[in-house]
Amino acid sequence: MVKTMVRGKYLLVRADLEGNSKIIENGALVQDSGTIIETGSYSELEKKYPGIKIIGNGEQFVIPGLINAHHHGRGVLSGLLMGQTDGHLETWIHRGWGKRPLDPYLMSMATLMQQIQSGTTTVMFNQTAGPASQIRTEANKTLAAFNNTGVRVAFSIGFRNQSFLVYGDTDTFLESIDTNLAAKARDKINTTVITFDEYWEITKKLDDDYRENDKVKILLSPQAYHWVDEKTLGTIGDLSRNNGIGIHLHMAETMYQRLYSERIHNETPVSRLNKLGVLGPEVSFAHGVWLTQTDLELMATSDTSISHNPSSNLRLSSGIAPVTEMLKQKVIVGIGTDSAGINDDDDLFQEMGLALRLHRPPGHYNKSISAAEILHMATVGGSKVTTFGESIGTLEPGTKADIVLIDWNRITSAYISEDLDPLEALVSRARKDDVQTVIIDGDVVYDNGSFNDIDREHIYQQIGSELSNPTPATVFEDRSLAQQLDPYIREYYADWNLESDQSYQFNGLN
Ligand SMILES: [Zn+2]
Repeated sequence: MVKTMVRGKYLLVRADLEGNSKIIENGALVQDSGTIIETGSYSELEKKYPGIKIIGNGEQFVIPGLINAHHHGRGVLSGLLMGQTDGHLETWIHRGWGKRPLDPYLMSMATLMQQIQSGTTTVMFNQTAGPASQIRTEANKTLAAFNNTGVRVAFSIGFRNQSFLVYGDTDTFLESIDTNLAAKARDKINTTVITFDEYWEITKKLDDDYRENDKVKILLSPQAYHWVDEKTLGTIGDLSRNNGIGIHLHMAETMYQRLYSERIHNETPVSRLNKLGVLGPEVSFAHGVWLTQTDLELMATSDTSISHNPSSNLRLSSGIAPVTEMLKQKVIVGIGTDSAGINDDDDLFQEMGLALRLHRPPGHYNKSISAAEILHMATVGGSKVTTFGESIGTLEPGTKADIVLIDWNRITSAYISEDLDPLEALVSRARKDDVQTVIIDGDVVYDNGSFNDIDREHIYQQIGSELSNPTPATVFEDRSLAQQLDPYIREYYADWNLESDQSYQFNGLN
């Protein structure tokens, strides 16, 4: 591969949490075979590398490739469009049964094209749990889509072995509801179950297959504290340490998830995981909406990181994660769309813009989040969460050449005050349509609306033809089953309340 130079009006070398982000005005970088070898001023590097191919004309904002730190696939073919309307997670999740089955390769291609278009070059991809026969094929097809698009991936398959319908004993819950409905629900659950031995065998095989591939990290994913028994969680902690495989799991996404642990152990899920040996530098959480200060201390001291997913938390009525407190306690935070971006389009720029506005609490004494902190989440923070570490997330020499060029003229049209921090303008105003060029591992994969190695139209034609078949009757049956379970599930949680419910406050009513 030849060396290339990327130049920009601004080059964000590293986003920094302490206000010391490194930006080079009229800057450039040189990459060789997928690794950045030098950064500096364009005028100097141009002289040093005469005749080198140059990407960008000096009018773009050049940033490290964005990292979507929590995602489950689907994207354009979203759960919403498949009939899974937004709502509280505990009932919403079962409505996901009523989604049309689609080829995992095509589905992943569609969502990855969409993410590349919004400047994402690395994705934490968490595949939904399912029977062994199915998840092997799905994993292979999903990873083939990552390979074909070039997008880096931290890949895991979710594992559950308890709390299938509510957070608690599945049999006890089923015995408490209509017998006919319980039988149907039990049949449905049985189609999603896998033993832990099967799960580990699949994950270990994937890890063996991809160990030498520097674009793929295989992780373990106990789906969440309440979805896996404690003995198995302890085993997963041991397997992670003994095999050098990281862990990614959902954490305290809703208040019911925290209450599940508190009602049994009088401890939070983070505290339990700490005792089970599941926290650590290779462990990351998703969500953490209901974390306590003590949880954050445990995360900071154990170097456990987290993905913040604000759109998903709003869409599923989960609440607002304490991100400014996380940052205050030096917890490393990434940002993800969780396949539920605010406009249902997995645009990480919108996610960043939303997070910027969400974490601005009233009161001058409260700290608001900064644009640099948001960019840190989407780059350096994401590199930690996905376990790629220092190899991605910055444009420093020695890192992978994952680079995004953004149309600075559109963002600042028709005027920008010369004393405005460019990072402030970038995070406040950039969106997917501003992404001009995306480079992964030194290869230009997307440029001015076109993919270089992907036949987008062909992928969409195949998706269209698959969806032109009539919806299988089972889809509507599954959706109806989920709807019938709804009132029983809500009833189950009727007396689950925090002592002080501050999840949603109306200003001025107290
Ligand atoms: Zn998730």
